Amino acid sequence: MRYELMLPHQIRRAIEERWPVVLPLGVLEYHGEHLGVGMDTLAVVKTLELLEPEMNLVILPPFYYGAASYAVAKPEGGGSVQVGGKVLAPFAEELFFGLLRVGFRNMHAIIHHQTENFAAGMPTDLAFKQAGRQAIFRFIEKESGEGWWGDEKSAAYYSDHAAGSNPFNWIKVHPLMSPEIMAAYPFDHAGEGETSLMLALCPEAADMSRVGDNATWYTASARRASPETGRRGVELVLARLRTLLTS
Ligand SMILES: [Zn+2]
Repeated sequence: MRYELMLPHQIRRAIEERWPVVLPLGVLEYHGEHLGVGMDTLAVVKTLELLEPEMNLVILPPFYYGAASYAVAKPEGGGSVQVGGKVLAPFAEELFFGLLRVGFRNMHAIIHHQTENFAAGMPTDLAFKQAGRQAIFRFIEKESGEGWWGDEKSAAYYSDHAAGSNPFNWIKVHPLMSPEIMAAYPFDHAGEGETSLMLALCPEAADMSRVGDNATWYTASARRASPETGRRGVELVLARLRTLLTS
């Protein structure tokens, strides 16, 4: 369900039953002359829309204003919007803190932008990852007071941890594509892989008649893009999300 459409009784049910609450996280960035600037975020949004009918899922309104960076192209006339990680982190902390206050304990931000070295991290995902940690510490301290971890009530902390009830799992940040998917599918920026994804997921954000207007190295493979290739990528992502969000 889309969060903004939910009624309070539905929200209470989602909390009670620990439905995954997913934040599509992304940017607005130049993706060649043939793709919409929302590509990275749309890939997450549209995939989640396909997943939603088959499982209990809360989809938060997407966040498009991450740190696109100007690494790919200058913003003037190209469309990239850069909001730096240092202002994203306090925003994201407030967002997560607010969602913890609502009652959610099974939150997942999913991002496709700059995820090729996800373990090391990039500004947007690092900001949201740090924010999640900060929000959880702050929330527990508000609920249980300082010294909560040292209190007798936390004596089972490590065994609870082993059993999976780690409060720091309440908020996780994931790349849309795992390293396994990146090895099995063309992972690129505005090339064959991303263009195919848009053709499959959101054809209104792809215009193959504009591919020839590109003169950049990273768009060279876009000519090979097809909806079939995109659908193959979408299936890989969906299969992974089913596991990720139900575990
Ligand atoms: Zn992209």
